[in-house]
Amino acid sequence: MDRENLLRELPSVDSILKSEDGEKWISRYPRTLVINVIRDSLSLLREEIKKGLLKDKEELRDYLISTINKGLERASRFSLRPVINATGIVIHTNLGRSLLSIKAALNILDVARSYSNLEYDLKEGRRGKRYVHVIRLLKELTGVEDAFVVNNNAAAVFITLNSLAAGREVIVSRGELVEIGGSFRMPDIMRMSGAILKEVGTTNKTHLYDYERAIGENTALIMKVHRSNFRLSGFVQEVFAEELVALGKKHGIPVIFDLGSGCLIDLKKYGIPDEPSVQEVLKTGIDIVTFSGDKLLGGPQAGIILGRSEYIEKIRRSPLARVVRVDKFTLSGLEATLYEYLDEENAIKKIPTLRMLLQGFDEIKKRAERLIKKLGSLEGWKKVKSLNTALSKDTIRDVKALIAFEEDFSRAGGGALPEIELRTCGVAIRPLNVSCNILEERLRNSEPPLIGRIKDDRFFLDARTIQEHEIDLIVSILAGVL
Ligand SMILES: *Cc1c(COP(=O)(O)O)cnc(C)c1O
Repeated sequence: MDRENLLRELPSVDSILKSEDGEKWISRYPRTLVINVIRDSLSLLREEIKKGLLKDKEELRDYLISTINKGLERASRFSLRPVINATGIVIHTNLGRSLLSIKAALNILDVARSYSNLEYDLKEGRRGKRYVHVIRLLKELTGVEDAFVVNNNAAAVFITLNSLAAGREVIVSRGELVEIGGSFRMPDIMRMSGAILKEVGTTNKTHLYDYERAIGENTALIMKVHRSNFRLSGFVQEVFAEELVALGKKHGIPVIFDLGSGCLIDLKKYGIPDEPSVQEVLKTGIDIVTFSGDKLLGGPQAGIILGRSEYIEKIRRSPLARVVRVDKFTLSGLEATLYEYLDEENAIKKIPTLRMLLQGFDEIKKRAERLIKKLGSLEGWKKVKSLNTALSKDTIRDVKALIAFEEDFSRAGGGALPEIELRTCGVAIRPLNVSCNILEERLRNSEPPLIGRIKDDRFFLDARTIQEHEIDLIVSILAGVL
């Protein structure tokens, strides 16, 4: 059929809607969505016909239906949706940081589907406070006097500075004026909060006397900031929390510490040095600490503020408290996450962030081996000892991809433990009919998207962050992609 005739064969939107397929689509998807997808598909087909890519009526019909089907599937997907994280980065900010424990996720669902006592005191039968739901556990777990929770740690730092130091000076070491990423830069946050930054020391060395000399009439706070995503090494000197607390006491100035990640268990016990637990820091006598809910804590996005009642009370009463208020989902997720910590062994098993961070190499290896075994049985996928060994032309005929077990290192991410390399392993893939970059792009656009990392000339799936239930899904995604 020639192009003109074929163009005339294209059905109208209306007749498609009235067809059997049309009715099926309407029953499954919102009407406006169906209409838009049909329109888009028709104009796509018109272009293809003009280019001479379609030849006859039969082909046209099948092609139209499959285009609409695909279009509807794509258009009905949520924009924000699950992906498989095979990057090995546990607290991956771009991929949503922490996964919640099952208890925390189910608690959010429960609270979401019912009315709740969010701000209702069930004992007294009158208005209550939303923060009580998490303060009790925060106190119990850390022994702190008082606690408050806001939207994220950036907000926690902001409201703390604003409530305790607006118009007055806050002393910070030049070695701790960090940029966390996503425009969180300590000097900017300080300025926006109304506090006046008083920098002391040098980039590499700050001494106690630097802080002491900077104390004056207008000093509101001494502040320490966790370096999070970088480390100083070489000729360096920093002043530890204990010494700052002593200095603060001497001059009657409160000391605050932005811990960044904030971990409720002692990681040293599990072979991870350099990250003091929240409890350890509080023991120094520090007045306020702030940290994230979704970094090492492994809960929902939140900013947690712990410390002395007199300061927490000021923060709680600030008009900004309403601006950075957490919702019931954050509170229900956070309460259930904190509950897991009542038994540390349980926390390590049930909180995915901790579990993935602390799991042993053997455990990761078992998962990697299960994955590689399943991949090896796919048609055209060849398991080899190493991707570096040269293979003869005969061996690789009919082979779509080579796979090999490989060891590597993964990272905690989220600005936590930047120096720590966690020994890991996974599956390295070398596609033979497309480039590694094309494989990466196809996997990123699969459903669900599969995100790994390219290293050297292979695509690497780090088994550390792959969840047990994702293994079969990964195999079917890979099976379809080459
Ligand atoms: C991550 C981090 C923040 C910001 O925390 P969010 O919860 O992402 O807002 C602030 N300070 C430090 C030191 C951090 O590491």
